[in-house]
Amino acid sequence: MVSRLVHWCSICGRQKGATNHWFMAILDKPKNLKIIKKWRESKACEPHTLTICGEQCAHTLLSRWLSGELRLEAQSEEGTVNESCVAQQQ
Ligand SMILES: [Zn+2]
Repeated sequence: MVSRLVHWCSICGRQKGATNHWFMAILDKPKNLKIIKKWRESKACEPHTLTICGEQCAHTLLSRWLSGELRLEAQSEEGTVNESCVAQQQ
């Protein structure tokens, strides 16, 4: 059985398809937000990574971050996995 990683947009919850062009954002300490244009599968599941489906959600992310609304669940609990990234059995 093969398992494949499934990603969801951290903002709108849309599921990532195989060929979509998505962005990633990393919210690291102390509250720095980095937006990464190039999708990297290996980074997408890290606890501080947000997965972004497109420009619209990148704007939403930015305004949430600027207003201080943006929180990552992973930061509050130790060892929490990134919920936008799930391994699915096929
Ligand atoms: Zn989205």
